Formats: sequence, C-alpha cells, structure tokens
Amino acid sequence: MIKICRPVKGDFIITNDYFGSSQWYKIHKAIDIRTKCAEFPNGIGRPILAVFTGSHIVSGSSVNGGIYYFLREADGLEARYYHLDKIRWQEGWTTRFIGDVIGWSGNTGKWTTGAHLHLEFWKKGVQLDPEPYFFNYIENL
Ligand SMILES: [Zn+2]
Repeated sequence: MIKICRPVKGDFIITNDYFGSSQWYKIHKAIDIRTKCAEFPNGIGRPILAVFTGSHIVSGSSVNGGIYYFLREADGLEARYYHLDKIRWQEGWTTRFIGDVIGWSGNTGKWTTGAHLHLEFWKKGVQLDPEPYFFNYIENL
C-alpha cells in the first residue's frame, strides 16, 4: 500500500460530529477533516495538499459535494476532495507532487454543515475504505 501524506499541514481533527455517527467514515467511506484551527478560525482557506504524486483528473462544482478535485496516481488510486473553497488548477497543469497545494478548504455544497474536507479514495471505479490509507500516512514532509 502506498504511503500518503496528510492532506493538511499542522494539527487536524478527523470529525464525524457533523454527521452524528462515530462510524460515519465507515458508512460513507470517507474521511472528514475539520479544517478549523488557530490560523484558520473559520476553517476556510486552509491549504489542502496532494496526498500523493498524481495527475489532476477532473475538478468542478457539484450541488452536494461543492467544489471538488480528483487526483489520480500512477497505479490508478484516486483521491477525491470535496467542499473546497477554491481549487488550484489551470490549463496545462497535470502532475501534482506529494504535499503540493491543490486547493483551499471551504464549506461549499449542500452536504456540509461546517468547514471541512471530505476525502475519498477510489480505484478502478470502486470506492475504497479510506482507513488503511489514511492511517498509513507519512507523518512529516
Ligand atoms: Zn464526508
């Protein structure tokens, strides 16, 4: 299994209290990270990082997920980020390197009740349990 880096610098809390279940990450197969911290008291605008080196697949805006960004590494593993405030991508940018800023945290989309990052892992069209990836991350970059 590849190592990923943490999607934000500094401390963060994996949260589920927006959703009312301690096992929510298992139910919706995603990790929710509260982006609020001392430096970003409202949780908006915190840099969001590429968890591995990969290519930009698609980004845009959806009603429920808000502003999203999909990154795919060479073996086909995808990281899908949701509820961003802004994405950092422009025509001609493809590969992002581990730890690069890919966007900024936000509270966009209907399926959010507080600024957070919703992060999913997919491979070949199948959504994966994020836990093994997430708890296997590289501590420091
Ligand atoms: Zn979520």
